[in-house]
Amino acid sequence: MAAKEILKMGHPLLRRPAATLEPPFGDDIFELVEEMRASLEAAGGVGLAAPQIGVSKSLVIFEVPEDRVRMEEGETASGVPSTVLINPKITPLSDETALGWEGCLSVPGLRGLVPRFTHIRYEGLGLDGRPISIEARGFHARVVQHECDHLLGILYPERMTDMRYLMFESEVPRFMESLREAAAAREATAANAEGERRD
Ligand SMILES: [Zn+2]
Repeated sequence: MAAKEILKMGHPLLRRPAATLEPPFGDDIFELVEEMRASLEAAGGVGLAAPQIGVSKSLVIFEVPEDRVRMEEGETASGVPSTVLINPKITPLSDETALGWEGCLSVPGLRGLVPRFTHIRYEGLGLDGRPISIEARGFHARVVQHECDHLLGILYPERMTDMRYLMFESEVPRFMESLREAAAAREATAANAEGERRD
């Protein structure tokens, strides 16, 4: 199955709420999933929503690479194999949110720090029409929230609370370095103040 062109921010279809699908799912949906898998593989990424290839239907695919979550969340974190989620619904299981870097194949070249719920339950249907109900945390929860937003016509920059943290991917390492330097300078100032009080 050939990879499809991925629509970019500004395309009206990315703004439209996607249509709910009725099981049982037939060849048209199986083909859609194959096209989405081919497109995701060609573009490189962890998830894709059907509207991103021009199909306004409530279906996302995603995976959570184990090496990536272990690097960020420790050795006990586990990955999620390639998953198809149809007509998803997300319920936050806590009010806690965390900032994390996101990118999007529809917003190429950019990265942003986006607040997301850290603990959610997502429900929907699998490609076989059976119900799915899964509790997710951390990066897994972030990926699902990002992909499901596409089905509501929402792109990640709209979820950002501080637009200073929207930047080109190539600038992220320099930006992170400047944050580390600012934190080190604050620590040095605090240590000096402590020293002066002792003198
Ligand atoms: Zn996206």
